[in-house]
Amino acid sequence: GPIVVWLRDDLRLDDNPALALAAETKRPIVPLVVLDEESDGVRALGGAHKWWLHHSLERFAASLRGIGSQLTLRRGKALDHVTQIVEETGATALFFNRRYDPASRAVDDAIEEALGGDVVVERFTANILHDPENVQTKTGGYYKVYTPFWKNVSQSEPRDPMDPPKGLKQPDGFPKSDDLADWNLLPSKPDWSGGFSDLWEPGEKTAHERFETFCDDLLEDYHNGRERPRDDATTRMSPHLRWGEISPYRLWHSARTYSNRRKTIPEEAIKTFLQELVWRDFNYHLLFHFGALATDNFNDRFDTFPWRSSKQDLTAWQKGLTGYPIVDAGMRQLWQKGWMHNRVRMIVGSFLTKDLLIDWRDGERWFWDTLVDGDIASNTSQWQWIGGSGADAQPFFRIFNPITQSERFDKKGAYIRQFVPELRDMPDKHIHAPWKAGRDVLEKAGVKLGETYPEPVVDHSDARDRALSAYDEVKG
Ligand code: FAD
Repeated sequence: GPIVVWLRDDLRLDDNPALALAAETKRPIVPLVVLDEESDGVRALGGAHKWWLHHSLERFAASLRGIGSQLTLRRGKALDHVTQIVEETGATALFFNRRYDPASRAVDDAIEEALGGDVVVERFTANILHDPENVQTKTGGYYKVYTPFWKNVSQSEPRDPMDPPKGLKQPDGFPKSDDLADWNLLPSKPDWSGGFSDLWEPGEKTAHERFETFCDDLLEDYHNGRERPRDDATTRMSPHLRWGEISPYRLWHSARTYSNRRKTIPEEAIKTFLQELVWRDFNYHLLFHFGALATDNFNDRFDTFPWRSSKQDLTAWQKGLTGYPIVDAGMRQLWQKGWMHNRVRMIVGSFLTKDLLIDWRDGERWFWDTLVDGDIASNTSQWQWIGGSGADAQPFFRIFNPITQSERFDKKGAYIRQFVPELRDMPDKHIHAPWKAGRDVLEKAGVKLGETYPEPVVDHSDARDRALSAYDEVKG
């Protein structure tokens, strides 16, 4: 009988074990995607997610047509749709690649149970390099600190990637599919996605091309370049990985092969890149073992932390109107492009949780809604990291100074000028803290504080003292 291949965050032909191994059986294949925002505990997609998913599905459906197959789309509870499609097609097997968050795992288990042993259910590892239960500390527990996790997993090479299937055998008939346009995933009014297509082209093909360009032009200096808050110094693979358009195994081995071939790539560069990929795995490791990562403090001492609730400050942060140029540049990049550079994510995260003393969960939710790469494991884990409550977190008392961070990483203010154009004519020296500039400097640059650009919402050194005394209450 046919095999239903249920695709989720793995919208690719290359190195897709569920699809490749189903194809190898030479049996008819029914590729299926279910948009499930209804099952218990499953998190609804954010706005930026939907934009990406729409385009990604369009491209993936075209790739499947290219190998003689057809994608079936369904929306609603996965349990209902998957079991129904299995029945309707007379499938005798269901293949899929594993997911790691508790709600998705529960859905997958429930489906296997509902199919009741009559249908063979096969799960594969595709989207992270190391299954969480296979990486254990010496005492058999899970890792809570990154460095020993890296030391453990870097002792062996991940498996080789699998080639994309050349063709998929058709079933007698494909099930009826929804029309993607009817899902209304794209924003209508207002359409905030105008800036997205300057930076992004979802889909497997672009992911591979972009990574090749990265290897040719940027890998050599990645260990230094990655700290510059621009959008063209890093791989920009995060949304492609988020939706599974490219496999981490492919990235790992391509980077290795590339650096073996081109002897000019410093060991430091390649190691830094591989370690970043493993950070992603580490976040999944944490999520698997601590399922409430999105909602509960990993370090429960933070349960009584006196977070402030200020709608006004939260809105200023979301809109990029805090009066701190590097923070505002980051928040506006996020809104316009659906993405933000890692260094700036840390700066804005520290600003929200420490300078504004607003709960990391508010930041996490905003990122989830606005990032094209908003990831169930990395977003939650990294927010807890910056907010101080995470495993292996940045200690709460280490508070980024948004001015010195800006001077250090965006020395000439190029990044600020790109996203905060009202400060475009400020001299390099004063662009990081315009309120400290003299009246004549501001006037010459056409800046009127409080009118063309906001005054700072807090004074950083007062805010720092406030944060440290709040921390005194929980540090124990
Ligand atoms: P590169 O520097 O080219 O890195 C290559 C790949 O390594 C990335 O694509 C990513 O998959 C992985 N990676 C790099 N850094 C990290 C990291 N710190 N944690 C996990 N994986 C990493 N990343 C997400 O993919 N989704 C998120 O929702 C997300 N939320 C974040 C929230 C905060 C507050 C912070 C501080 C970081 C967050 N990150 C998140 C991590 C990181 O900022 C992005 O992965 C990175 O900026 C993506 O750009 P890139 O692909 O060009 O990265």
